[in-house]
Amino acid sequence: MCIHGGHRPNALNPAVVMPIVSSTTFLLDDVAYERMLSGHADEALIYTRIKNPSLDVVQVRIARLEGAERALVFASGMAAIHAAVMSVVKQGSVILAPREIYGSTWDLFANVLSRLGVEARFVDMSDLVAVEDEIERSKPAVVFAESISNPTLSVVDIGKIAALSRRASAACIVDATFATPINQQPLALGADLVVHSATKYMGGHSDLIGGVVAGSAERMKPVYRWMQLAGGCMDPHAAFLLDRGLKTLPLRMHAHQENALTIARHLERDRRVRQVYFPGLESHRSHSTAKSVLAGFGGMVSFVVEGGDAAALRFARGLKLALEASSLGGVETLVSLPFNTSHARMTTEQREQAGIQAGFVRLSIGIEDARDLIDDFDQALALSQNT
Ligand SMILES: *Cc1c(COP(=O)(O)O)cnc(C)c1O
Repeated sequence: MCIHGGHRPNALNPAVVMPIVSSTTFLLDDVAYERMLSGHADEALIYTRIKNPSLDVVQVRIARLEGAERALVFASGMAAIHAAVMSVVKQGSVILAPREIYGSTWDLFANVLSRLGVEARFVDMSDLVAVEDEIERSKPAVVFAESISNPTLSVVDIGKIAALSRRASAACIVDATFATPINQQPLALGADLVVHSATKYMGGHSDLIGGVVAGSAERMKPVYRWMQLAGGCMDPHAAFLLDRGLKTLPLRMHAHQENALTIARHLERDRRVRQVYFPGLESHRSHSTAKSVLAGFGGMVSFVVEGGDAAALRFARGLKLALEASSLGGVETLVSLPFNTSHARMTTEQREQAGIQAGFVRLSIGIEDARDLIDDFDQALALSQNT
């Protein structure tokens, strides 16, 4: 599916790799005109915001990977999340979302949609009793979940969350960016829509910004309308890069998670490390859930270094191979510290309440040789303890 899904060369288009179609507009012949007039503009090649062959290829490929009837690509993960949510809510709707949620999604729900009369409530999604109670109490239109949370990497039981949502007639939307379609297909677990930041693992090379929404044809109809009218469509060049990235997604995920497990086990044995978070470790709170809802544990590892945030900073600045940068899911190992990036607006006490201890470090493990990474982390851990 990653390699042959979505595009087969044929007599009309013999290129083995789909060329980038950067044309914004297309010859309006009688067939196209007829389709447009009969209300099927989305099937006619008229204008790239509405339809483009480069986008079609990657959309079909992603739909297959997700087991979806339809997938759409967007200019960014946030454009995708926005369209997915807006396709469901109206004034007065409630969105139930995880307390430990991606920062910009939190900002969108808590501070932007709230101004339009859409209220967000936040719960610990690992606590199914709390989720059920909150669904009962607030009757949400949307239950928004993340397969694996950032940065403590808790794994949510998407099947159970989807069942609770269905019982309450709420649309269950899952952000599966950290899991990828290789490790989880939320639609098969009962979710109504799955969203991704394709910027991360799906693109996989830290060289494109993009997003994905996938679901049934019926659920996707209003998502498509939102994309057309809000205009968050993907650029054909980004679509080409994303399509290229998808071809190696299973290989990359395999390498990411193999490295991640090796490194998590190594860090767990290091006395300069207070705690390691990786769903593949028995010590992680979500290990058993992870085993039941994920086909692999992903490439993200977090840990807490002895000596607090100053030690974490010395660790990050002492790295020779891994790079201190935000974002994740690329072939290169990236390191970020919540205290100076995603959670910088909080005080140390607020971060601790949110489960982020002083000295917290998040690793997006790349596909380098694990021994090179371990050597790099070992020397940077030594530097972290120099006061
Ligand atoms: C990065 C990210 C997003 C936002 O995606 P962009 O492509 O940056 O707009 C949303 N959710 C998660 C889990 C992410 O990691």
